[in-house]
Amino acid sequence: MEMPKMTAVCVCGGCGRTIEKDYVFCPWCGRSRVTDEDCEEAIESAFECIEEKQYEKYFARLEKMEEKLNDLEKDLNVLALSSEMHK
Ligand SMILES: [Zn+2]
Repeated sequence: MEMPKMTAVCVCGGCGRTIEKDYVFCPWCGRSRVTDEDCEEAIESAFECIEEKQYEKYFARLEKMEEKLNDLEKDLNVLALSSEMHK
C-alpha cells in the first residue's frame, strides 16, 4: 500500500477519488476544479443558512414597508385626483 504523499490532496466530488489539489482537472473523471467548487459550495450553503434567518427579518420589514408604500400610493392617487379636480 502506498503511503500518502505530502502534497495536499482533495477528494473529487465527481468520482470520489483522491486527487492532488494542484490539479485543475480530475485525472479520473475530468471534472474541473471540483474540490475548490465543492469547498466553496459548502461555505456558501453555510452562509445561506445564516442569510436565510436574516432574510426572514428583512422580508418581514419589507412587507411592512410595502404596506406603507401602498398606503402612500393611495394617498398620492387621492392627492393627484383632487388636484385634477381643482384645476
Ligand atoms: Zn473525479
